[in-house]
Amino acid sequence: MYKFGIIGAGWYGCHIASSFKALGFDVTVFDNEDDILQRASGNNQFRLHQGFHYARNHRTRVQSRDGYMRFIERYPTLSDPVENNLYAVPNDDSLIDFLTYRLIMTSSGVEFYEVKPDLYNLSNCSGVLLTDERVMRTDKARHLFRMRLADNLLLNCKVESVRDIGGKVCINEHFFDYVIDATWGSVLPIEYPVFYEPTILLYYRSKIGSFALTMVDGNLCSIYPTDTADIFTLSSVTHTPLGRFDKMITAKEFLNSVDSTLIRTKRSLMEEQVRRYMPDFLDKFEFVGPQLSIKTKLVGATDDRSCYVNKQGRTFVVMSGKIDTIFYASEAILSMIENENQIQVNRI
Ligand SMILES: Cc1cc2nc3c(=O)[nH]c(=O)nc-3n(C[C@H](O)[C@H](O)[C@H](O)COP(=O)(O)OP(=O)(O)OC[C@H]3O[C@@H](n4cnc5c(N)ncnc54)[C@H](O)[C@@H]3O)c2cc1C
Repeated sequence: MYKFGIIGAGWYGCHIASSFKALGFDVTVFDNEDDILQRASGNNQFRLHQGFHYARNHRTRVQSRDGYMRFIERYPTLSDPVENNLYAVPNDDSLIDFLTYRLIMTSSGVEFYEVKPDLYNLSNCSGVLLTDERVMRTDKARHLFRMRLADNLLLNCKVESVRDIGGKVCINEHFFDYVIDATWGSVLPIEYPVFYEPTILLYYRSKIGSFALTMVDGNLCSIYPTDTADIFTLSSVTHTPLGRFDKMITAKEFLNSVDSTLIRTKRSLMEEQVRRYMPDFLDKFEFVGPQLSIKTKLVGATDDRSCYVNKQGRTFVVMSGKIDTIFYASEAILSMIENENQIQVNRI
Protein backbone atom coordinates (compact mmCIF):
# COMPACT_ATOMS: atom_id res chain seq x y z
CA MET A 1 0.00 0.00 0.00
CA TYR A 2 1.90 3.00 -1.26
CA LYS A 3 1.64 6.41 0.34
CA PHE A 4 1.13 9.24 -2.15
CA GLY A 5 1.69 12.92 -1.46
CA ILE A 6 -0.19 14.98 -4.04
CA ILE A 7 0.53 18.68 -4.42
CA GLY A 8 -2.38 20.69 -5.82
CA ALA A 9 -6.12 20.30 -5.23
CA GLY A 10 -7.24 21.31 -8.71
CA TRP A 11 -9.11 18.92 -10.99
CA TYR A 12 -5.95 16.87 -11.56
CA GLY A 13 -4.89 16.51 -7.92
CA CYS A 14 -8.46 15.76 -6.76
CA HIS A 15 -9.18 13.22 -9.48
CA ILE A 16 -5.84 11.41 -9.03
CA ALA A 17 -6.25 11.40 -5.23
CA SER A 18 -9.81 10.06 -5.25
CA SER A 19 -8.95 7.41 -7.90
CA PHE A 20 -5.90 6.22 -5.96
CA LYS A 21 -7.84 6.26 -2.69
CA ALA A 22 -10.51 4.06 -4.29
CA LEU A 23 -7.73 1.62 -5.23
CA GLY A 24 -6.72 1.40 -1.56
CA PHE A 25 -3.68 3.71 -1.60
CA ASP A 26 -2.99 6.18 1.19
CA VAL A 27 -3.25 9.74 -0.21
CA THR A 28 -2.59 13.21 1.20
CA VAL A 29 -3.39 16.29 -0.90
CA PHE A 30 -1.65 19.62 -0.18
CA ASP A 31 -2.96 22.96 -1.40
CA ASN A 32 -2.06 26.50 -0.41
CA GLU A 33 -5.64 27.72 -0.94
CA ASP A 34 -8.36 27.36 1.70
CA ASP A 35 -10.59 25.25 -0.57
CA ILE A 36 -10.27 22.90 -3.54
CA LEU A 37 -10.61 23.85 -7.27
CA GLN A 38 -9.69 27.49 -6.63
CA ARG A 39 -7.17 28.23 -9.38
CA ALA A 40 -7.40 27.24 -13.07
CA SER A 41 -9.89 24.47 -12.19
CA GLY A 42 -12.36 27.00 -10.78
CA ASN A 43 -11.64 29.77 -13.31
CA ASN A 44 -11.93 28.46 -16.84
CA GLN A 45 -14.49 28.10 -19.60
CA PHE A 46 -15.99 24.92 -18.05
CA ARG A 47 -16.24 23.22 -21.42
CA LEU A 48 -16.22 19.44 -21.59
CA HIS A 49 -14.62 19.08 -25.00
CA GLN A 50 -15.11 16.47 -27.72
CA GLY A 51 -12.13 17.80 -29.70
CA PHE A 52 -13.93 20.25 -32.07
CA HIS A 53 -11.62 23.01 -30.84
CA TYR A 54 -8.45 21.24 -31.93
CA ALA A 55 -8.59 20.68 -35.67
CA ARG A 56 -4.81 21.16 -35.84
CA ASN A 57 -3.78 18.69 -33.15
CA HIS A 58 -4.61 15.02 -33.56
CA ARG A 59 -3.34 13.94 -30.10
CA THR A 60 -5.46 16.56 -28.34
CA ARG A 61 -8.53 15.65 -30.41
CA VAL A 62 -8.22 11.96 -29.57
CA GLN A 63 -7.61 12.63 -25.85
CA SER A 64 -10.64 14.98 -25.78
CA ARG A 65 -12.98 12.61 -27.62
CA ASP A 66 -12.09 9.69 -25.34
CA GLY A 67 -11.92 11.84 -22.19
CA TYR A 68 -15.40 13.20 -22.91
CA MET A 69 -16.95 9.72 -22.84
CA ARG A 70 -14.99 8.68 -19.79
CA PHE A 71 -15.82 11.87 -17.90
CA ILE A 72 -19.56 11.32 -18.39
CA GLU A 73 -19.25 7.69 -17.34
CA ARG A 74 -17.07 8.36 -14.29
CA TYR A 75 -18.63 11.65 -13.11
CA PRO A 76 -22.21 11.46 -14.46
CA THR A 77 -23.54 14.28 -12.28
CA LEU A 78 -20.69 16.75 -12.85
CA SER A 79 -21.71 18.13 -16.24
CA ASP A 80 -24.86 19.27 -18.06
CA PRO A 81 -25.54 19.09 -21.82
CA VAL A 82 -25.41 22.22 -23.99
CA GLU A 83 -28.41 21.98 -26.32
CA ASN A 84 -27.39 24.39 -29.07
CA ASN A 85 -23.64 23.92 -29.26
CA LEU A 86 -22.32 25.44 -32.49
CA TYR A 87 -18.89 25.35 -34.13
CA ALA A 88 -18.77 27.88 -36.96
CA VAL A 89 -16.06 28.45 -39.58
CA PRO A 90 -15.81 32.08 -40.71
CA ASN A 91 -15.57 33.03 -44.37
CA ASP A 92 -12.11 34.56 -44.23
CA ASP A 93 -10.55 34.58 -40.74
CA SER A 94 -10.06 30.81 -40.25
CA LEU A 95 -6.81 28.87 -40.67
CA ILE A 96 -8.85 26.00 -42.15
CA ASP A 97 -11.72 26.17 -44.63
CA PHE A 98 -15.08 24.64 -43.71
CA LEU A 99 -14.76 21.53 -45.91
CA THR A 100 -11.35 20.67 -44.44
CA TYR A 101 -12.66 21.29 -40.94
CA ARG A 102 -15.66 19.02 -41.53
CA LEU A 103 -13.40 16.33 -43.00
CA ILE A 104 -11.04 16.42 -39.99
CA MET A 105 -13.99 16.11 -37.59
CA THR A 106 -15.52 13.25 -39.59
CA SER A 107 -12.21 11.40 -39.44
CA SER A 108 -12.09 11.96 -35.64
CA GLY A 109 -15.19 9.79 -35.26
CA VAL A 110 -17.29 12.43 -33.49
CA GLU A 111 -20.94 13.03 -34.35
CA PHE A 112 -22.32 16.32 -35.66
CA TYR A 113 -25.00 17.86 -37.87
CA GLU A 114 -24.44 20.59 -40.38
CA VAL A 115 -26.79 23.55 -39.89
CA LYS A 116 -27.39 26.80 -41.78
CA PRO A 117 -25.75 29.94 -40.26
CA ASP A 118 -29.04 31.87 -40.84
CA LEU A 119 -30.86 29.58 -38.43
CA TYR A 120 -28.89 31.21 -35.58
CA ASN A 121 -28.54 34.71 -37.11
CA LEU A 122 -24.81 34.23 -37.68
CA SER A 123 -22.91 36.36 -40.21
CA ASN A 124 -19.68 35.91 -42.17
CA CYS A 125 -19.72 32.12 -41.70
CA SER A 126 -19.09 29.53 -44.40
CA GLY A 127 -20.42 26.60 -42.39
CA VAL A 128 -21.72 25.57 -38.97
CA LEU A 129 -21.66 22.24 -37.12
CA LEU A 130 -24.10 21.42 -34.32
CA THR A 131 -22.72 18.88 -31.88
CA ASP A 132 -22.92 17.51 -28.34
CA GLU A 133 -20.76 19.05 -25.67
CA ARG A 134 -21.28 19.66 -21.99
CA VAL A 135 -20.65 22.31 -19.38
CA MET A 136 -18.87 21.25 -16.21
CA ARG A 137 -20.53 21.73 -12.81
CA THR A 138 -17.66 23.04 -10.69
CA ASP A 139 -19.96 23.59 -7.71
CA LYS A 140 -20.94 19.91 -7.71
CA ALA A 141 -17.34 18.80 -8.31
CA ARG A 142 -16.19 20.73 -5.21
CA HIS A 143 -18.92 19.07 -3.17
CA LEU A 144 -18.05 15.57 -4.43
CA PHE A 145 -14.29 15.86 -3.87
CA ARG A 146 -14.71 17.53 -0.45
CA MET A 147 -16.76 14.47 0.58
CA ARG A 148 -14.45 11.88 -0.99
CA LEU A 149 -11.24 13.47 0.27
CA ALA A 150 -12.46 14.84 3.60
CA ASP A 151 -9.71 13.09 5.62
CA ASN A 152 -7.03 13.49 2.99
CA LEU A 153 -6.89 17.25 2.39
CA LEU A 154 -4.26 19.55 3.88
CA LEU A 155 -5.50 23.00 2.84
CA ASN A 156 -3.81 26.36 3.54
CA CYS A 157 -0.61 24.39 3.22
CA LYS A 158 2.01 25.73 0.82
CA VAL A 159 4.62 23.27 -0.42
CA GLU A 160 8.03 24.92 -0.69
CA SER A 161 10.15 21.91 -1.62
CA VAL A 162 10.16 18.18 -2.23
CA ARG A 163 13.15 16.20 -0.90
CA ASP A 164 14.34 12.61 -1.45
CA ILE A 165 15.36 11.12 1.91
CA GLY A 166 16.36 7.45 2.33
CA GLY A 167 14.15 6.01 -0.39
CA LYS A 168 11.16 8.18 0.59
CA VAL A 169 10.01 11.57 -0.63
CA CYS A 170 9.41 14.29 1.93
CA ILE A 171 6.92 17.20 1.74
CA ASN A 172 6.74 19.58 4.71
CA GLU A 173 7.97 16.82 7.13
CA HIS A 174 5.51 14.20 5.77
CA PHE A 175 7.12 11.11 4.15
CA PHE A 176 5.70 9.37 1.06
CA ASP A 177 6.58 6.54 -1.33
CA TYR A 178 5.68 8.77 -4.27
CA VAL A 179 4.91 12.44 -4.79
CA ILE A 180 2.74 13.83 -7.59
CA ASP A 181 3.12 17.48 -8.47
CA ALA A 182 -0.21 18.63 -9.93
CA THR A 183 0.44 22.37 -9.59
CA TRP A 184 0.90 23.16 -13.28
CA GLY A 185 4.62 23.76 -12.75
CA SER A 186 4.48 25.90 -9.58
CA VAL A 187 6.59 23.55 -7.43
CA LEU A 188 8.74 21.28 -9.64
CA PRO A 189 9.85 22.19 -13.15
CA ILE A 190 7.89 20.74 -16.08
CA GLU A 191 10.20 18.82 -18.43
CA TYR A 192 8.67 20.27 -21.58
CA PRO A 193 9.16 23.80 -22.85
CA VAL A 194 6.17 25.75 -21.46
CA PHE A 195 5.11 29.33 -20.98
CA TYR A 196 2.67 30.95 -18.58
CA GLU A 197 -0.19 32.97 -19.95
CA PRO A 198 -2.29 35.28 -17.76
CA THR A 199 -5.81 35.32 -19.23
CA ILE A 200 -9.03 37.31 -19.15
CA LEU A 201 -12.48 35.83 -19.79
CA LEU A 202 -15.56 38.06 -19.72
CA TYR A 203 -18.79 37.09 -17.97
CA TYR A 204 -22.22 38.01 -19.43
CA ARG A 205 -25.83 37.50 -18.39
CA SER A 206 -28.29 36.29 -21.06
CA LYS A 207 -31.69 34.68 -21.47
CA ILE A 208 -30.59 32.90 -24.65
CA GLY A 209 -30.94 29.46 -23.02
CA SER A 210 -28.62 26.49 -23.45
CA PHE A 211 -26.39 27.94 -26.17
CA ALA A 212 -22.69 27.98 -27.12
CA LEU A 213 -20.88 29.38 -30.14
CA THR A 214 -17.24 28.63 -30.98
CA MET A 215 -15.62 30.18 -34.03
CA VAL A 216 -12.89 27.93 -35.47
CA ASP A 217 -10.09 27.61 -36.38
CA GLY A 218 -7.39 30.00 -35.23
CA ASN A 219 -7.41 33.45 -33.61
CA LEU A 220 -11.16 33.56 -33.01
CA CYS A 221 -13.69 33.77 -30.18
CA SER A 222 -16.27 31.73 -28.30
CA ILE A 223 -19.32 32.08 -26.06
CA TYR A 224 -19.91 29.28 -23.57
CA PRO A 225 -22.39 28.72 -20.72
CA THR A 226 -21.27 28.33 -17.09
CA ASP A 227 -22.70 26.27 -14.26
CA THR A 228 -25.07 29.19 -13.48
CA ALA A 229 -28.05 29.01 -15.88
CA ASP A 230 -28.03 32.57 -17.28
CA ILE A 231 -24.28 33.33 -17.03
CA PHE A 232 -21.92 32.89 -20.01
CA THR A 233 -18.23 33.47 -20.73
CA LEU A 234 -16.83 35.23 -23.76
CA SER A 235 -13.30 34.23 -24.67
CA SER A 236 -11.01 35.13 -27.54
CA VAL A 237 -7.85 33.41 -28.76
CA THR A 238 -6.51 36.85 -29.71
CA HIS A 239 -7.65 38.95 -26.75
CA THR A 240 -7.97 36.51 -23.81
CA PRO A 241 -4.17 36.12 -23.39
CA LEU A 242 -2.65 39.06 -21.50
CA GLY A 243 1.00 38.19 -22.02
CA ARG A 244 3.52 35.39 -22.19
CA PHE A 245 5.91 34.71 -19.29
CA ASP A 246 8.69 32.16 -18.64
CA LYS A 247 7.89 31.88 -14.93
CA MET A 248 4.60 31.33 -13.09
CA ILE A 249 5.56 33.94 -10.48
CA THR A 250 5.95 36.74 -13.05
CA ALA A 251 2.67 35.72 -14.70
CA LYS A 252 0.97 36.00 -11.28
CA GLU A 253 2.54 39.41 -10.63
CA PHE A 254 1.25 40.63 -13.97
CA LEU A 255 -2.24 39.27 -13.27
CA ASN A 256 -2.30 41.16 -9.95
CA SER A 257 -1.53 44.42 -11.79
CA VAL A 258 -4.49 44.20 -14.23
CA ASP A 259 -6.60 47.36 -13.87
CA SER A 260 -10.00 48.61 -15.06
CA THR A 261 -8.52 50.38 -18.12
CA LEU A 262 -7.07 47.13 -19.47
CA ILE A 263 -10.36 45.33 -18.75
CA ARG A 264 -12.35 48.02 -20.63
CA THR A 265 -9.99 47.81 -23.63
CA LYS A 266 -10.19 44.02 -23.75
CA ARG A 267 -13.97 44.11 -23.41
CA SER A 268 -14.36 46.43 -26.36
CA LEU A 269 -11.99 44.34 -28.53
CA MET A 270 -13.70 41.08 -27.64
CA GLU A 271 -17.20 42.45 -28.21
CA GLU A 272 -16.14 43.89 -31.56
CA GLN A 273 -14.72 40.50 -32.57
CA VAL A 274 -17.79 38.45 -31.61
CA ARG A 275 -20.23 40.93 -33.22
CA ARG A 276 -18.62 40.25 -36.59
CA TYR A 277 -20.20 36.77 -36.43
CA MET A 278 -23.11 37.42 -34.08
CA PRO A 279 -24.24 40.99 -34.87
CA ASP A 280 -26.96 41.02 -32.18
CA PHE A 281 -24.57 39.92 -29.40
CA LEU A 282 -25.03 43.10 -27.33
CA ASP A 283 -28.82 42.84 -27.57
CA LYS A 284 -28.68 39.34 -26.13
CA PHE A 285 -25.76 39.51 -23.67
CA GLU A 286 -25.24 41.98 -20.80
CA PHE A 287 -21.70 42.42 -19.38
CA VAL A 288 -21.21 41.26 -15.77
CA GLY A 289 -17.46 41.30 -15.12
CA PRO A 290 -14.05 39.74 -15.84
CA GLN A 291 -12.48 36.45 -14.72
CA LEU A 292 -8.69 36.42 -14.46
CA SER A 293 -6.63 33.23 -14.48
CA ILE A 294 -3.34 31.69 -15.67
CA LYS A 295 -2.85 28.98 -18.32
CA THR A 296 0.30 26.89 -18.62
CA LYS A 297 0.88 26.08 -22.29
CA LEU A 298 3.33 23.98 -24.25
CA VAL A 299 5.56 25.92 -26.61
CA GLY A 300 4.74 24.95 -30.21
CA ALA A 301 2.70 25.81 -33.25
CA THR A 302 0.27 22.87 -33.21
CA ASP A 303 -1.97 24.05 -30.38
CA ASP A 304 -1.16 20.94 -28.31
CA ARG A 305 -3.41 20.88 -25.21
CA SER A 306 -2.91 17.22 -24.37
CA CYS A 307 -1.61 15.94 -21.03
CA TYR A 308 1.93 14.73 -20.29
CA VAL A 309 3.36 13.05 -17.19
CA ASN A 310 7.06 12.88 -16.33
CA LYS A 311 8.64 10.62 -13.74
CA GLN A 312 11.78 11.78 -12.00
CA GLY A 313 12.76 9.12 -9.45
CA ARG A 314 9.84 8.91 -6.99
CA THR A 315 8.27 12.13 -8.20
CA PHE A 316 5.74 12.60 -10.97
CA VAL A 317 5.19 15.97 -12.60
CA VAL A 318 1.86 16.43 -14.37
CA MET A 319 1.55 18.83 -17.29
CA SER A 320 -2.23 19.18 -17.42
CA GLY A 321 -3.98 19.46 -20.71
CA LYS A 322 -7.64 20.18 -20.28
CA ILE A 323 -9.96 18.75 -17.66
CA ASP A 324 -11.04 15.82 -19.83
CA THR A 325 -7.43 14.53 -19.85
CA ILE A 326 -7.40 13.74 -16.10
CA PHE A 327 -7.79 10.03 -16.90
CA TYR A 328 -4.64 10.03 -18.98
CA ALA A 329 -2.69 11.47 -16.01
CA SER A 330 -3.90 8.97 -13.38
CA GLU A 331 -3.35 5.99 -15.68
CA ALA A 332 0.08 7.14 -16.86
CA ILE A 333 1.23 7.35 -13.22
CA LEU A 334 -0.10 3.89 -12.35
CA SER A 335 1.42 2.31 -15.43
CA MET A 336 4.83 3.88 -14.71
CA ILE A 337 4.74 2.47 -11.17
CA GLU A 338 3.65 -0.93 -12.47
CA ASN A 339 6.44 -0.83 -15.02
CA GLU A 340 9.01 0.08 -12.35
CA ASN A 341 7.86 -2.83 -10.17
CA GLN A 342 7.99 -5.21 -13.13
CA ILE A 343 11.59 -4.18 -13.82
CA GLN A 344 12.48 -4.84 -10.15
CA VAL A 345 10.80 -8.29 -10.22
CA ASN A 346 12.69 -9.17 -13.40
CA ARG A 347 15.98 -8.15 -11.76
CA ILE A 348 15.27 -10.46 -8.75
C1 LIG B 1 -8.98 30.83 -19.15
C2 LIG B 1 -8.97 29.32 -19.15
C3 LIG B 1 -9.97 28.61 -19.81
C4 LIG B 1 -9.95 27.22 -19.83
N1 LIG B 1 -10.99 26.56 -20.38
C5 LIG B 1 -11.07 25.22 -20.27
C6 LIG B 1 -12.23 24.51 -20.72
O1 LIG B 1 -13.20 25.12 -21.18
N2 LIG B 1 -12.25 23.15 -20.61
C7 LIG B 1 -11.18 22.45 -20.08
O2 LIG B 1 -11.25 21.20 -20.03
N3 LIG B 1 -10.08 23.09 -19.63
C8 LIG B 1 -10.00 24.44 -19.69
N4 LIG B 1 -8.92 25.10 -19.20
C9 LIG B 1 -7.84 24.31 -18.65
C10 LIG B 1 -8.20 23.80 -17.26
O3 LIG B 1 -8.68 24.85 -16.46
C11 LIG B 1 -6.94 23.18 -16.67
O4 LIG B 1 -6.46 22.15 -17.49
C12 LIG B 1 -7.18 22.53 -15.32
O5 LIG B 1 -7.95 23.34 -14.49
C13 LIG B 1 -5.84 22.25 -14.70
O6 LIG B 1 -6.08 21.64 -13.48
P1 LIG B 1 -4.90 21.44 -12.48
O7 LIG B 1 -5.42 20.65 -11.35
O8 LIG B 1 -3.72 20.89 -13.20
O9 LIG B 1 -4.46 22.94 -12.08
P2 LIG B 1 -5.10 23.97 -11.04
O10 LIG B 1 -6.56 23.94 -11.03
O11 LIG B 1 -4.42 25.29 -11.29
O12 LIG B 1 -4.62 23.38 -9.65
C14 LIG B 1 -3.30 23.52 -9.17
C15 LIG B 1 -3.39 23.66 -7.67
O13 LIG B 1 -2.07 23.70 -7.13
C16 LIG B 1 -2.09 24.57 -6.02
N5 LIG B 1 -0.72 24.98 -5.75
C17 LIG B 1 0.09 25.71 -6.58
N6 LIG B 1 1.30 25.88 -5.98
C18 LIG B 1 1.23 25.26 -4.77
C19 LIG B 1 2.15 25.09 -3.69
N7 LIG B 1 3.38 25.59 -3.73
N8 LIG B 1 1.75 24.40 -2.60
C20 LIG B 1 0.50 23.89 -2.52
N9 LIG B 1 -0.42 24.02 -3.53
C21 LIG B 1 -0.04 24.69 -4.63
C22 LIG B 1 -3.01 25.71 -6.45
O14 LIG B 1 -3.53 26.39 -5.34
C23 LIG B 1 -4.08 24.97 -7.24
O15 LIG B 1 -5.21 24.66 -6.46
C24 LIG B 1 -8.90 26.51 -19.19
C25 LIG B 1 -7.91 27.21 -18.49
C26 LIG B 1 -7.94 28.60 -18.44
C27 LIG B 1 -6.89 29.33 -17.64
